[in-house]
Amino acid sequence: MINLYTPAEIVGKLDEYVIGQDDAKRVLAVAVYNHYKRVQFAQSGGNDVEVKKSNIMMLGPTGSGKTLLVTSLAKILNTTFVTADATAIVASDNISEELNKMLVKLLDKTNGDVHAAEMGIVFLDEIDKLVTGINRTKGESIQQIMLKIVEGTIADVSYKGQSVKMDTNNILFICGGAFVDLPGIIRTRLGERDTILLSDFEVQKQVVADDFAVFGMIPEFCGRFPMVVVLQALSQAALKEALVKPRNSLISQYEKMLEVENVQIEFSPESIDQIALMAEKLQTGARGLRTVCERFMTRIMFDIPNEQNLKKIVITPEVVMGTAKPIYHYSVSQAGSELTPLVALKPRETSPYNEEGGSYGKGY
Ligand code: ADP
Repeated sequence: MINLYTPAEIVGKLDEYVIGQDDAKRVLAVAVYNHYKRVQFAQSGGNDVEVKKSNIMMLGPTGSGKTLLVTSLAKILNTTFVTADATAIVASDNISEELNKMLVKLLDKTNGDVHAAEMGIVFLDEIDKLVTGINRTKGESIQQIMLKIVEGTIADVSYKGQSVKMDTNNILFICGGAFVDLPGIIRTRLGERDTILLSDFEVQKQVVADDFAVFGMIPEFCGRFPMVVVLQALSQAALKEALVKPRNSLISQYEKMLEVENVQIEFSPESIDQIALMAEKLQTGARGLRTVCERFMTRIMFDIPNEQNLKKIVITPEVVMGTAKPIYHYSVSQAGSELTPLVALKPRETSPYNEEGGSYGKGY
């Protein structure tokens, strides 16, 4: 059963998972609300006015939260959700089979319940790669082939050796892509002088169908994605928030992982600043947060199972930069009694770290 919340409720719930992207959240919430209202309307037999389906096109740099927004949305709405990667479709020798796979995934998620699968969401990631790769002509024909499915048709799907008829009219298709050259195309149309002070994000919010056509997408395909949602690159402040604030944030994941080992991990506020700073430099959005953290966390998680009486690890900015060891706090076990409070504050004793050149852990 789909939870049909109002757009404001949807935004409120998305805020728990996704930092920033307020414009995108609002547009997405309205689009999704309208989509499921339309489904409800059609199912209640109100067919004197046909409300056209509006699929969604999402533009935003890598690691800005496109996938996170869609997965969170599906969770909130309690709807079936699958992703497909346009690069895999282009790389395949059998396009129809790839498209079939997309619908089969929906059926898999609903254990073969066709009706539930017909109300799901398909997220088509890296859609811009259909026309930016080496095989642009193939990308164009893929868009042609997909027209009917995304608009709404009765598709013949082969599922577990059977042919299943699936109505794609109520499936919400959401495309995502970085569309790197799109801001330049829009600036050219609007005039370089008039847009010089605008960020790529502000420019992209003025996108029209023709810009997608100049980019290389076929107009009929883009025409089936009339709702456009634009995400912006996360600032350093937003990256900091993304690290600690969302449900299931990266920091809370590390805390959980170490909790299993009975070890507490503490990130100093300065270390959080440092992680965000280094992640921003990677220019992969919030994705960079994990890259930066994994560099020092992998070694820590390798070592922990060998430690005795380790109670707490403190992460400092120097640990994040790779120039110092984490601070390890130990407590001593007393036979038959509870562990004593923290008794020692010292760096690791049996240092496996490579200290050459003033840094530690070259393989870190
Ligand atoms: P995209 O699809 O835009 O490339 P993802 O949604 O896959 O990016 O995000 C990559 C990683 O960064 C995920 O772990 C996600 O949780 C995190 N992330 C990205 N954007 C945000 C955001 N706005 N708020 C919180 N976390 C984010």
